[in-house]
Amino acid sequence: MEVEEALLIALFKHNGVIKEFGLSEEIVSEIADEFSLNEEQRSAYLETIYRKESRIKKSGLWHRLLFRAADVLAKEKLVSRPTQTLKLTNKREWMLTEKGFDKVLELSNIPATQKEFLPTKSFEVQKVVKKLNEIKRPIDYDPFDKKKKVFKTSRNTTLRTRGFRQAVIEAYDCKCAVCGLKIYSPDTLSWEIEAAHIVPNRVKGKDDLWNGLALCHLHHWAFDVGWFTLLNNFKIQVSSQIDSLPSGYGKVGNYDLLNSTSNDSRILLPDRKEIYPHRNAMKWHRENIFHQ
Ligand SMILES: [Zn+2]
Repeated sequence: MEVEEALLIALFKHNGVIKEFGLSEEIVSEIADEFSLNEEQRSAYLETIYRKESRIKKSGLWHRLLFRAADVLAKEKLVSRPTQTLKLTNKREWMLTEKGFDKVLELSNIPATQKEFLPTKSFEVQKVVKKLNEIKRPIDYDPFDKKKKVFKTSRNTTLRTRGFRQAVIEAYDCKCAVCGLKIYSPDTLSWEIEAAHIVPNRVKGKDDLWNGLALCHLHHWAFDVGWFTLLNNFKIQVSSQIDSLPSGYGKVGNYDLLNSTSNDSRILLPDRKEIYPHRNAMKWHRENIFHQ
């Protein structure tokens, strides 16, 4: 395997981003492991002699090699350089591009259909995330996008879907807003958490942060079928139908799915108020999805 390919895959495993390659960076030794480099090879130095200044510059050979590989990837537009990423995220990082992301899926034999569920950052997706975070929150909000094409899977739609998902997950710190569950797969590639629409996608609910909610699989299901809804003060209201549930339903041991908030029945909210769920979206959910 080429160093470039190993680097791409390493980027993917690190959520699509890596900081600049310092010798102490985890990723530097991770890729060295991949190539079974010995200690000597890892710590080899390259000496550059600047005669005029009578100065010797020492740099790690392995580190230089990785940097060069990253440079090649950037030229092929498979990664974005720290100078570009900096403008987007204010962090000096190398980041996968969508093209690079597609390439990794191909190299790792991951079907493209899974792409939507992998919250791997890419330069293009982070652009969407940034945009979603910058839209001014409307006072009177229409949560419907009448022009939205629900079943179209064009590249743009996928980017927008991935951007919405990423933005919501980041806003809620990868935690379920109801129960606080936070966990990813053992390979660290996918988060359990889902980005739910308050006004659902199938009725053309908008992909705005204030129409989104991060929920675990079970709470996403319960929210979508109307087992619970949100009040304007972000407290949870559970359907009265809960009283007619046979005993033992909705429970795993002592855990009660519909009464599992630890936060005075208020959901966990993002840091910024501007991206809290919008009352117009919540109102629609109460009136159209929720079962009193
Ligand atoms: Zn949950």
